[in-house]
Amino acid sequence: MASMTFDGIGKTFPDGTVAVANVSFAVADGEFVVLVGPSGCGKSTLLRMAAGLEMLNSGRLLMNNTDVTETEPQDRDIAMVFQNYALYPHMTVYENMAFGLQQRKTPKRKIDELVRDAAEMLDLTRYLERKPGALSGGQRQRVAMGRAIVRHPMAFLMDEPLSNLDAKLRVQMRGELKLLNQRLGTTTLYVTHDQVEAMTMGDRVAVLKPVFNGQDSNLQQIDTPQMLYDQPANLFVAGFIGSPAMNFVRVELNAEAGSLRGAITGAEISFPVPAGAALSAYAGRQVIAGIRPEMFQACPEREALFNEQIAVAEALGADTFVFFDIPSPPVNVNDAEDSFTHKGKNRLVARIPPALTPTPNQRLPLTVDLEKLHWFDPTTGVAIR
Ligand code: ATP
Repeated sequence: MASMTFDGIGKTFPDGTVAVANVSFAVADGEFVVLVGPSGCGKSTLLRMAAGLEMLNSGRLLMNNTDVTETEPQDRDIAMVFQNYALYPHMTVYENMAFGLQQRKTPKRKIDELVRDAAEMLDLTRYLERKPGALSGGQRQRVAMGRAIVRHPMAFLMDEPLSNLDAKLRVQMRGELKLLNQRLGTTTLYVTHDQVEAMTMGDRVAVLKPVFNGQDSNLQQIDTPQMLYDQPANLFVAGFIGSPAMNFVRVELNAEAGSLRGAITGAEISFPVPAGAALSAYAGRQVIAGIRPEMFQACPEREALFNEQIAVAEALGADTFVFFDIPSPPVNVNDAEDSFTHKGKNRLVARIPPALTPTPNQRLPLTVDLEKLHWFDPTTGVAIR
């Protein structure tokens, strides 16, 4: 078992690409931490550095409080599972799982015990004599896991291990992997670009963003899935976690007779703002409000905050997503300043019960629980609370 500490880690490639900047976090013994973020945010580079496959330019990497920054990959006692799990096609499942142990000169009887234990755990016992070509995608993925498990490593490093599987199998395998982590208690660092995978599997989730020169750090927030959802640290995290994504609107905040009122920029929509001290400090300025799709509620027309024509309605069975436009500049979550000059419509999405599904062009009066709004600084993108 192992803890892992990333201490001020940075990586700039020889061509000048800053892949990772100033990343610090710790993974506790037995914890399942997911690194998630869009393409190019440095997830794979971080994982490869943990494996020892990529050198660091700055910072330190600790395992069990021992500095392993300079330690060779084979001496780190970690096992990696990749997207392309590359089983040996001419070997049986048993031989594939035993191969690494044979390389390490593990006694034959011990190998047999380890392989059979892992096969049992992964429900592969009856396939041990089959070759990979005669297995389903999910079974092959389990063999790849088996190869990692038999070594009883201090930690697993997994890079998008499920992305070659079809959607249904992916859902099944993510449950199995999580269960395996709970049974083995092995520290796991898991990379994915899929926020649903991240949220369902991680004890904690680290949200990363690509860095550009001069930017502080890739790491935007590391927290439990629920905390990321309820209390995103900034616009980027708020926009990344949640599907459909959080809606953002620009709001002019004004103090009136001791209380705050918000007016959506460009639209004739205003509402009382239940303000804490931090938000009150923004009176007289523009802020960004965040509305999760499920925070909208259908209401009588006279109580409506929004009463727009529906552009698109997507009926999913359990819910319907309705999309509508307001005449307000949109917000670019990747760079809060960027869209200040951007004029036009802002398309919002509400999640409503299927019984209310409107036809396109019909108006749908909607209100919002104002107490639940998220607020962000328009310049820094940092949450105001
Ligand atoms: P993806 O989800 O697309 O795999 P990622 O988050 O895993 O992306 P990385 O592969 O870690 O991202 O890459 C981070 C950044 O570093 C990207 O801008 C990438 O182009 C760059 N990068 C990666 N490897 C190299 C390299 N060998 N030389 C130069 N730049 C590189």
